[in-house]
Amino acid sequence: MKKILNYINGNYCEAVSGKWLDNYNPSTGKIYSQITDSSQEDVELAYQAAKKAFPKWSNTPIEERSDILLRISTLIEKNLDALAEAETRDNGKPLSLAKSVDIPRASSNFKFFAHAITQFASEAHESIGRNTINFTLKHPLGVVGCISPWNLPLYLFTWKIAPALASGNCVVAKPSEITPVTAFLLCEICTQAGLPKGVLNIVQGMGSTAGHAIVTHPDIKAISFTGGTKTGEHIARTAAPMFKKLSLELGGKNPNIIFADCEYDKMLAVTVKSSFANQGQICLCGSRIFVEKSIYQQFKTDFVAKVKQLKVGNPFDKDTQIGALVSKPHLEKVVSYIQLAKEEGGTLLCGGEKLTVNGSENGYYVEPTIIEILDYKCRVNQEEIFGPVVTIMPFETEEEVLTMANSVKYGLSATVWTTNLNRSMRMSKALETGIVWVNTWLNRDLRTPFGGIKNSGVGREGGFEALNFFTEPKNVCIKY
Ligand code: NDP
Repeated sequence: MKKILNYINGNYCEAVSGKWLDNYNPSTGKIYSQITDSSQEDVELAYQAAKKAFPKWSNTPIEERSDILLRISTLIEKNLDALAEAETRDNGKPLSLAKSVDIPRASSNFKFFAHAITQFASEAHESIGRNTINFTLKHPLGVVGCISPWNLPLYLFTWKIAPALASGNCVVAKPSEITPVTAFLLCEICTQAGLPKGVLNIVQGMGSTAGHAIVTHPDIKAISFTGGTKTGEHIARTAAPMFKKLSLELGGKNPNIIFADCEYDKMLAVTVKSSFANQGQICLCGSRIFVEKSIYQQFKTDFVAKVKQLKVGNPFDKDTQIGALVSKPHLEKVVSYIQLAKEEGGTLLCGGEKLTVNGSENGYYVEPTIIEILDYKCRVNQEEIFGPVVTIMPFETEEEVLTMANSVKYGLSATVWTTNLNRSMRMSKALETGIVWVNTWLNRDLRTPFGGIKNSGVGREGGFEALNFFTEPKNVCIKY
């Protein structure tokens, strides 16, 4: 059986304990590889390698660091097919999605931060008359920890480690135990690209052991974490007394607000994607759909018809649009929310059942599900499901829909469909989220600040925000 190893100081190694965890293919429900079950001892080895590599890496000229990151980006591109197939086997997402989104974006993450670091400037303030000049040095932090989730495995893993490395830090990183494989394949790419030993160390294993050891390590200076709100809360509680820098990208329950004056056909096509792309397992999916009353009935009919046409199936099939959910426990969680929706008086407009796919009878498939709800405060409309399940309900006024949209504890993103410019500005200002998309969805420019407010997280990733996170500003004041 294929073994997924740790990558420490440029070498592949088993966990010190010699223990292994099973890794499942969600589209078949079968174990197909094993990963190291790392613990605190493995994290310590990774930390020591990173610490040793830091003085040289942090003093490597920016152009050289940038060149190495560009080579990593190019090698990801060259290995697109192999990486996409690995991602699909590990995660259950359609191969077409892994090829067009996940892997290209992992490559772009390295390319973007390879360029961004060459433009990362700091300010100077001259105090005329007082004969002083202040300027800011931006030092890398040292050894930092990056912990990423399973939904966009290589995409989000590289979104953290690329800026961390670009700004001169050495990294101890842990991908999700549920989707370890593409991070493992990245190790070989980093070696081929000439990344010096110890600069990036990848420890595989459970969040509660390996992840916890990274968070509690006394000398790992910062934690960049993407994952669930509960885990983020636990990490914040653990790391705060150690005065670590924390970037937390957490859950979402994002509103998709549709006004009658929208460009209807465009809205409908994008809403199908924003509801069900990646089986609804994107933190930015618009899982709460609010539709202006005058077009509600028409939207309901058209949306249900389009969603019923979505092809659910083996993620390796060319025409598959919805693949398998990532794991059995996650499948059960999603199904339990569909049950809850019925108990709460919701009406199933389509889907709602587990699905058996021919040839993959034990895979974790659920039909894309639309639930019409009566009360925006019901639990299915307030809690993150993170699967192919959306709620819909009508609204009458802007004020009313804003109350509904802002009623959740999350505040990651929102989508607004309207052709009224004034309304789009009013809504953008009033929505309690870190990101607002108007007449589009998942339209990303890597220079923009990315992240949420409320229980969706603390801090921002992307562009110079990420480089600021991974550096410590030092003010120097010179009297002349
Ligand atoms: P989890 O919080 O379960 O896990 C995220 C990562 O943290 C995994 O690598 C996990 O390891 C690790 N981990 C778990 N417990 C600990 C711990 N005590 N200490 C340190 N690390 C730990 O999230 P999921 O993987 O289930 O991802 C889904 C969630 O991620 C959703 O809530 C989604 O909204 C959110 N997300 C947020 C995004 C954003 O940008 N805001 C983007 C994408 C997803 P292991 O897997 O081994 O348990």
